[in-house]
Amino acid sequence: MELKQNTKESFFKLLFLEPKLLLFGLLSLALGSAINLLIPELVRRYLNNNFATSLSNNYYNLALVLIAIFALQGLCFYFRSYSFNLLGHKIAYRLRADTFKNLLSKSIGFFDSTNSAGLSSRIINDTQVIQDIFSLRISVLIRYGFQVIAGAILMFIISPKLAFLILLVIPILVVFGYALGKKLKSCSKTLQEALGNSTNLINEVYASIKVIYSFGNSNIEINRFNKLNQDTLIAGIQRSKVSSFFSSFISFLMNLAIIIFFFYGLSLVNNNALSYGDLTAFLLYGAIVAVSFSFAISSYSDVLQGIGALSRINELNIPDNKKASIEFVTPEKAFSSIQFSKVSYSYDSREKQLALKDINLKISANSFVALVGSSGSGKSTLANLLLGFYQPTIGEISYDNINLSHISKDWLYNMTAFVPQDPVLFNLTIKENILYGNLEASDSEIIEVCKQVNLTNLINSLPQGIDTPCGERGLQLSGGERQRVALARAIIRKPSLLVLDEATSAIDAESEDSIKRVLYNLKAKTTIVMIAHRLSSIKEADCIYVFKGGQIIQSGKHQDIASIDGLYKNMIELQEL
Ligand code: ADP
Ligand code: MG
Repeated sequence: MELKQNTKESFFKLLFLEPKLLLFGLLSLALGSAINLLIPELVRRYLNNNFATSLSNNYYNLALVLIAIFALQGLCFYFRSYSFNLLGHKIAYRLRADTFKNLLSKSIGFFDSTNSAGLSSRIINDTQVIQDIFSLRISVLIRYGFQVIAGAILMFIISPKLAFLILLVIPILVVFGYALGKKLKSCSKTLQEALGNSTNLINEVYASIKVIYSFGNSNIEINRFNKLNQDTLIAGIQRSKVSSFFSSFISFLMNLAIIIFFFYGLSLVNNNALSYGDLTAFLLYGAIVAVSFSFAISSYSDVLQGIGALSRINELNIPDNKKASIEFVTPEKAFSSIQFSKVSYSYDSREKQLALKDINLKISANSFVALVGSSGSGKSTLANLLLGFYQPTIGEISYDNINLSHISKDWLYNMTAFVPQDPVLFNLTIKENILYGNLEASDSEIIEVCKQVNLTNLINSLPQGIDTPCGERGLQLSGGERQRVALARAIIRKPSLLVLDEATSAIDAESEDSIKRVLYNLKAKTTIVMIAHRLSSIKEADCIYVFKGGQIIQSGKHQDIASIDGLYKNMIELQEL
């Protein structure tokens, strides 16, 4: 109910986004429709002979008047169509902009649980549907609605007796219209869902095509798609059935009504209660009302569909109320320590499983902290919490005694750099990807950082050098190359806090060695939190935390824990260090 209210509100807010444009469109619409309604009246006067006598000896004038009228109507048509189209484009522009902006204020948890294809479809396709509503359907609905009402009034004026019959037809139409609207809405929803599922499947196949081919499972995917495609077809057929039945039935009812009007009208003419001119005009209005009614009904169902799209977009635009109530603090200086106090965390999608259990640790500024442990033990989760991507379920993370959830994200992300486990590059050149970390970096700084992460040889071997595009998600580079560009992007930022999540896992020993040296040099000004599988890269850490099952089971310097029986010692032995 609340959502509906909210949808209604935003619908009218959008409609009145450009009040002048709307008013202008409505005026041209009203004038154009009024001219439409003028025609039967002209015919009526002509037949009733008042008009004919004055004009019959002057056909030339009559022709001129008609041309002028239709030219005016053409002009109205142009202005109506242009104004509403413009309105639709502006509304869609605004919706896309607002939704995308809101999207970038969502929590990471939102992105974890939202399907990417569905998201882009909402921002692009749903706004398209909404644009269509404002560009076209609304004006059609108003125009024909206006003609139905004004036409019916004129019919009453011409012959109240005859027009009274309309009152018998209208309730039937309203009841049918309502029932149809409901049915169509549910059919449209099923259809939309079926189409959405197909889109998701296409995206999934696109992303996993090598896996599908290598397992020889193309047919499984084809069958899955056929099943969804069939759902789409069935929903489409269902929708067509309902709407075809309705329009044909309405059209039959309309014709029936016209016949009744016609014969009842004739009997009135025979009794001299009505003139032929009146009857003709009455029936012409009747036809206008009937045709307008069926158009109005069908655009009404389209408007309903558009409102569905609007409510889907609104769901996206609901702000995080948790966030809205918090007043963020901007600390005055860089932090001197980060503290985890009794932090436990479970992901929203797995509430029962604790990914981190009762974590206590303190990271001093400009220290080098390493997190090691088997996969799935919670290391990446800790990095994500440290960067404020998720809030602890229990416990607190604080930067110099200020709760992280109260710290301004601008401040936080201004001083951090993050290299995630599987770094993603943008579809830009190598240089642009590195500059992403620090837009003010000079060319010489870029060259220097490339040297530090051992990218120089690669760059020199490429025909386009540092201006080589990295491809979508950076996939035109090897895994190791991608990691090195991501590292360069982070290092050039000169961050106060550098978080590296297995950032060197795909990098050869030689490059890793040079990166180790870079990190060592960074230490004077940077706090480094490094998650690593290869223990050789973290031997010099100020403190190593060993994770198992979401808990820290050992911690200390390499020399201290290497000799103690436990997971760390086992890991060292396995890696033959
Ligand atoms: P590590 O980095 O040590 O290999 P993670 O921190 O990524 O481990 O994962 C810890 C646990 O949390 C694992 O059991 C993993 O399956 C789970 N997990 C990781 N990411 C998510 C997520 N986005 N949603 C739900 N569970 C997750
Ligand atoms: Mg991990």
